[in-house]
Amino acid sequence: MASDLRHARRTSRQVDIAGHPVGGGAPVLVQSMTNTDTADVAATAAQVKALADAGSEIVRVTVNTAEAAAAVPAIRAALDAQGCAVPLVGDFHFNGHKLLTEHPECARALAKFRINPGNVGKGHKRDTQFAVLIEKAIEFDKPVRIGVNWGSLDPALLARMMDANAARSEPWTADAVMRDALVVSALESAQRAEELGLPGDRIILSCKVSDVQDLIAVYTDLAQRCDYPLHLGLTEAGMGSKGIVASTAAMAVLLQRGIGDTIRVSLTPEPNGDRTREVIVAQEILQTMGLRSFVPMVTACPGCGRTTSTTFQELAEKIQAYLRAQMPAWRARYPGVAGMQVAVMGCVVNGPGESKLANIGISLPGTGETPVAPVYVDGQKTVTLKGARIAEEFQAIVDDYVRATYGGAPRTPQLDPERRTIAVKAVG
Ligand code: SF4
Repeated sequence: MASDLRHARRTSRQVDIAGHPVGGGAPVLVQSMTNTDTADVAATAAQVKALADAGSEIVRVTVNTAEAAAAVPAIRAALDAQGCAVPLVGDFHFNGHKLLTEHPECARALAKFRINPGNVGKGHKRDTQFAVLIEKAIEFDKPVRIGVNWGSLDPALLARMMDANAARSEPWTADAVMRDALVVSALESAQRAEELGLPGDRIILSCKVSDVQDLIAVYTDLAQRCDYPLHLGLTEAGMGSKGIVASTAAMAVLLQRGIGDTIRVSLTPEPNGDRTREVIVAQEILQTMGLRSFVPMVTACPGCGRTTSTTFQELAEKIQAYLRAQMPAWRARYPGVAGMQVAVMGCVVNGPGESKLANIGISLPGTGETPVAPVYVDGQKTVTLKGARIAEEFQAIVDDYVRATYGGAPRTPQLDPERRTIAVKAVG
């Protein structure tokens, strides 16, 4: 893997979120957010658990009402009872100062507070309410993410910066002033928090926008102007492939530059869709960039006119799902297994080559080829599968490889290169 092509991590500051280091060279963490009513303890705890099981390392919940604040300690207790220690972040807007003051158990149960400086309060209340939020973070010894958002930028700050821009001899465009205002809002709020007594190593910043080029420009600027760890995400990325592509395009550029210490992929789920999709996409961004390993990855060709059946697509899908399903058990039992590469290829053109580059690869027969599927283990052809049970037999070979390579178990005789074939049913 071309690790020499990536830029080094940038921040020297590191923030601790309930034992998870953020920034300062620590691995980029995957974050997600619930969409349940936080006041519904059972539903929220279940969704947090599902997100954590999928691999979310930090989960944010909205804390918008007294009922939601009162529910947070119960959610924490329900998760602890299930052995789920994932840190919970409270998302506060408008009334956070009040909720944290009136619900100290909520403050205690949270691992971090997210504060949006554009939604803290209006006029003279803004400064006092922001101060209360920071005082609560100090009192309860919690880090804070100062999260600015394009859609809720502090109007007073923007007006001030627009006026200053109008007085320039060569005024910037309105978009450029908006981008600068996002960065200034985050930096001024962080400075104010430090003046109020919050240590600099308890502050994470974010400046989310919904346009790819704006996000790259804003975070590039922000990273040059501060040393706080940064939470990265394209806000309101959208649904389906559009949301995935836009998030990936924006975050990949920034991550490659060493910018971003936690990430979230803000996908809009399909109605009744699986919320954990955003976690899997975030993991896949980091893993395909070579920044972290979460689950063994399957390399599969797209298929073409040389493949007239769906056998290899089905096998690729089945194996990837199988590998992901095993990870909760494999992670502790087989250290390093997350970095394993599996190839499932459609024909002899690129099949053997890709299979040899993977830890385990299988090259299925294309149209007109002999109906056999050679399997390669660590670059060597070990067996040739054929018949109706190729998928099951290949899965057994993967299991055997995992036990032997990451668990120290001996290889089974099936994989003895001298035997070359294993017992299979006749070709269908
Ligand atoms: S490996 Fe074979 S089946 Fe797959 S895309 Fe290439 S030529 Fe087509």
